Amino acid sequence: MAKVSHELRTPLGAILGFAEMIQVGVYGEISEQQHEATGKIIESTTYLSSMVNELLDQAQLEARQLILVVDEFDPRDVTNTVQSRMQILAKHKGISLITQVTPSLTSCVYGDEKRIQQILINLVSNAIKFTETGTVKVHCYQPDAFHWAFQVSDTGIGIPTEAQRRIFEPFGQVDGSETREQMGTGLGLSIVQQLTSLMGGQITLKSQVDRGSTFTVTLPIQAKQSLRSDVQNDD
Ligand code: ADP
Repeated sequence: MAKVSHELRTPLGAILGFAEMIQVGVYGEISEQQHEATGKIIESTTYLSSMVNELLDQAQLEARQLILVVDEFDPRDVTNTVQSRMQILAKHKGISLITQVTPSLTSCVYGDEKRIQQILINLVSNAIKFTETGTVKVHCYQPDAFHWAFQVSDTGIGIPTEAQRRIFEPFGQVDGSETREQMGTGLGLSIVQQLTSLMGGQITLKSQVDRGSTFTVTLPIQAKQSLRSDVQNDD
């Protein structure tokens, strides 16, 4: 599975790259209709590549082959990147995306910055996806001297109590037409939970139907020594 997913990424990258070049006119001027068509190719290919990436992550986690790359970084870099990347998506839906960082938060944590960014992007894009009106808030803080945390809250459709466990399982989704109208494989939260646990952290959820949801990820400020999923995956 890991090998197949990897092989799928190369041609997808080529389709995306060439479609983007056609769209910006590298091969000559294009009509409005052609611009619209290439836009659709780009949109579908982007979605397909994110699904392939999720399948690859899930396969690597299952095979206990996912390796974290640990270095020091400022957690503000992660929240700033996510805010600027997700802003457009929120604006498009008429929702405000607010990021708040507690001033006393340490400026140096150890961990896999890219993977932590992936976790936050996943939670924020779900929050935007399942919210029609209101606000998505990201709050980054330090609950104690040894941990830092980020909380993603929304004013969306919420998650029924009986589904709150299931959504962290691979392919687990909430039943019902409202949820199924949205695209998605149901792998995102399973990957988020496994990555968090691999990093020695934990994720919690509080949610009320029609009120909204809050996901909280707590991570150690100092990363653990053993960071390969085949060594550390028992939480
Ligand atoms: P996907 O979004 O691809 O379906 P996820 O694993 O990210 O997969 O989420 C699983 C399910 O959990 C979603 O399909 C949805 O039913 C529910 N869910 C996740 N986040 C939220 C949220 N912020 N508000 C309401 N439902 C959510």
